[in-house]
Amino acid sequence: MQTAASITDLIGNTPLVRLKGPSEAAGATILGKCEFMNPGGSVKDRAALAIIEDAEARGVLLPGGTIVEGTAGNTGIGLAMVGNARGYRTIIVMPDTQSIEKQDSLRALGAELVLVPAAKYSSPCHYVHQSRRIAEETPGAVWANQFDNSANRLAHIKGTAPEIWEQTGGQIDGFTCAVGTGGTLAGVGMGLKAAKPDICIALTDPMGAALYDWFAHGELRSEGSSVSEGIGQSRITGNLDGFVPDMQFQVPDLEALPWVHRLMAEEGLCLGLSSGINVAGAVRLGRALGPDSVVVTILCDSGMRYMSTLFNPAWCAAKGLPAPPWLQG
Ligand code: PMP
Repeated sequence: MQTAASITDLIGNTPLVRLKGPSEAAGATILGKCEFMNPGGSVKDRAALAIIEDAEARGVLLPGGTIVEGTAGNTGIGLAMVGNARGYRTIIVMPDTQSIEKQDSLRALGAELVLVPAAKYSSPCHYVHQSRRIAEETPGAVWANQFDNSANRLAHIKGTAPEIWEQTGGQIDGFTCAVGTGGTLAGVGMGLKAAKPDICIALTDPMGAALYDWFAHGELRSEGSSVSEGIGQSRITGNLDGFVPDMQFQVPDLEALPWVHRLMAEEGLCLGLSSGINVAGAVRLGRALGPDSVVVTILCDSGMRYMSTLFNPAWCAAKGLPAPPWLQG
């Protein structure tokens, strides 16, 4: 028999797929790590499991305990999934700007969902601060604190990076992805650097995030905006501590969306916009590294999570963004 003892054993070990259109556009080999194939549907399953196992190991999360977190949704889904499998209650605080699909998934999992209006990080109303307060006020609760909890990036140092190294047989020249918490970029970056010190690790920021300017000019400054969910950071999180990319790109939604559309139409890959931003960054990195280079990026979550937004022509029209051409009436 070949069986997993629990859904948590099915997190990670995701496949790596060659992206044909992006490889042709870059004149290099662009590979996507299929993180949308994790059981909870995103790259954040890895952090969720690592954070829960760390809290268990430290003795702060006890049987029947509660996990509280502020999230754009995917970490919450991962925490609720692992929480259900291990008998923990989950309270998830999320900005009400995130997709209905993610809200519904959290409710379906049985998480207690607290929707809050979007606010700046400096405001006490920001979802991260609200989640910390709820954790402090709830008996037996642990605050997952994904932004500053290094168990998050450790999951990528120990899991995602070695997987990529093995899957490419060490034939990898560059890696890039966007930052939400920074766990994926810093963790995979550090893990791959340990195996190959001269590998090029690049940040790909959406518009409206401040990290591009920080690493390019030493200023935490942002301009523009993005409809992407789960990425776009305004500060140096704990998970980014000590990490410096070799290169940085800033990708507008109008450059990333055509990749989401093309990967769906031409390669059958159904992806969210953070994956599109990552792929656009990988194309830029592949061009920078040259014709024989191999670049890996992260396909973070599925487009199924954004049927009401990215794949809804009325929503796209209201945002002034292009809808998938085949959906336009
Ligand atoms: N893409 C999506 C869709 C996400 O939900 C997240 C996590 N917030 C990321 C990318 C970024 O991952 P990380 O938190 O590891 O930076």
